[in-house]
Amino acid sequence: MSDTKAAVQSPLLPTYARADVAFVRGEGAWLEATDGSRYLDFGAGIAVCALGHSHPRLVNALIEQGRKLWHVSNLFRIPEAEALGGRLVESTFADYVFFTNSGAEAVEGAIKTARKHHAANGNPERFRLITFEGAFHGRTLATIAAGGNPKYIDGFGPKVEGFDPVPFNDIDAVRAAIGPHTAGVLVEPIQGEGGVRTPAPGFLRQLRELCDEHGILLVADEVQSGMGRTGKLFAHELMGVTPDVMAVAKGIGGGFPLGAFLATRKAANGMVVGTHGTTYGGNPLAMSVGLAVLDEVLAPGFLESVARKGLAMKQRLAALKDQYPNVIAEVRGEGLFLGLRLHVNNGEFAAAARAEHMIVIPAGDNVVRLLPPLVIEENEMSEAIDRLEKACKRVIAAAAGASAGASA
Ligand SMILES: *Cc1c(COP(=O)(O)O)cnc(C)c1O
Repeated sequence: MSDTKAAVQSPLLPTYARADVAFVRGEGAWLEATDGSRYLDFGAGIAVCALGHSHPRLVNALIEQGRKLWHVSNLFRIPEAEALGGRLVESTFADYVFFTNSGAEAVEGAIKTARKHHAANGNPERFRLITFEGAFHGRTLATIAAGGNPKYIDGFGPKVEGFDPVPFNDIDAVRAAIGPHTAGVLVEPIQGEGGVRTPAPGFLRQLRELCDEHGILLVADEVQSGMGRTGKLFAHELMGVTPDVMAVAKGIGGGFPLGAFLATRKAANGMVVGTHGTTYGGNPLAMSVGLAVLDEVLAPGFLESVARKGLAMKQRLAALKDQYPNVIAEVRGEGLFLGLRLHVNNGEFAAAARAEHMIVIPAGDNVVRLLPPLVIEENEMSEAIDRLEKACKRVIAAAAGASAGASA
């Protein structure tokens, strides 16, 4: 080792404050740590492992395709991509799909599609998107600008132009922000990182109406809310609204890195040969896993079971809130896209849950997200409530200890 190199504990760039636990295998909603202990996983790799860990159908799809062909590039037809794209188009408002490797790339593609639509229609000055406070759209240069969080933007050079943030749920602010340069509105139907914030009833429908009135596009970021998480294939269906363009990722690959953006023929009119590309996106390996995920999520009864389990979980969480009103302030979310807004620090609560061998995920607005695999079973939900109750007791005991210490 060269002595000009700093002596560091980990070779990984220290952009994460990682919990000191590592996992070696997983099955369903359970993870096994290096010390052999088991954790109940209500994080699912941040809403990614929709079918849990080591789902036999996904494992088979990966192995079978892995033996045949991994990658050929988009210079050739990819039958697996045509198959998955076809199924997505059949199941949504969209006419076209473009496959990516991540959520941020999917959102970038959606932004480009919206801008190019207006350029192709002779209005290149219409490139701005109205965005929302508390949003998260990824960590590329354009998507940090779209998300608007200064912690992610500062120090990375000039902010990408073209995003006009307004308060979430404020339809008058949206109306006021629409101008001659507006291309559309970019919205998470339910904000994830922002704290599982669901819009006021009718908000998305009002956005749709404003977009239609002004000839601009509604762009949905369903990277976290999509793929069955809310009990519908996509969250906008819950609200009875269809977007023009949509970004998807996380659950779509069940753990294999995969994303997509989808659009109507009308919205995608600028995306012609040569305007966009990717080397890896939609390769046969990713597509085979994605097909297996979609088959499971669209199997009869699957989405209904997510809605049913979500409702049951939400009722039990509401009871827990009544029992621990000094810990839990509010239960939020739809389906198995759930959040607890807390009176105690959300990071401390997540650590208390981890001490009870349960994974939950902090988010904005002092929320912890509960994002179990969609295949979570009844007894596992009961186990989760038990462990969350123990976590509540832990944070209460810790607070009592701290105040006793302070007064001593
Ligand atoms: C996670 C997320 C992204 C970014 O996805 P990556 O795969 O991390 O790039 C974008 N939008 C939303 C709503 C997300 O939750």
